[in-house]
Amino acid sequence: MAIAVYPGSFDPMTYGHLDIIRRAAPLTDQLVVGVLINRKKQPLFTTEERVEFLRKATEDLPNVSIMAFDGLAIDFADQCNAAYIIRGVRFISDFDNELSMAQTNSRLNDKVDTIFFPADPEYANVSSSVVKEIAAYGGNVSQFVPPFVGEKLQEKVRNKGESRNE
Ligand code: ADP
Repeated sequence: MAIAVYPGSFDPMTYGHLDIIRRAAPLTDQLVVGVLINRKKQPLFTTEERVEFLRKATEDLPNVSIMAFDGLAIDFADQCNAAYIIRGVRFISDFDNELSMAQTNSRLNDKVDTIFFPADPEYANVSSSVVKEIAAYGGNVSQFVPPFVGEKLQEKVRNKGESRNE
């Protein structure tokens, strides 16, 4: 039993992310979900919103905490005294990238190992970008994200549309 971190963009969190959190939490003393403050890509949701969604979705999980972080996931893991980084794998293409990232991370810090969780087939095609795309065209995202995320998503998409029409 140990501390693990689950880093990602979570822009926004989906039921796919939540499934990984629920499966990883029982294997750890403390699971810290790390929300990347992405300075390269402009996220749709602010860091605070992304953190808040995850807090709400995991409030029944006592050993799960949510933190924002900047920089490398491996450094975030080190700051949290984590022995493991958790990542989800949906497709072979995910695995290609994730394997290379895990190997690079172990070169940077061999005290931290990576654990992969295969996506539940029910959520394998769910990603934050697909959910944003569906919402942008007015589609129903209730199968993919909790209701409080869906509502904010519709609000954002509406506001974006309005500011484009101005
Ligand atoms: P990143 O930009 O770091 O990939 P994401 O928020 O897209 O951030 O994903 C964070 C982690 O969650 C990654 O390991 C990703 O593979 C995993 N993940 C994303 N969606 C799913 C899903 N539907 N099922 C399982 N794992 C997922």
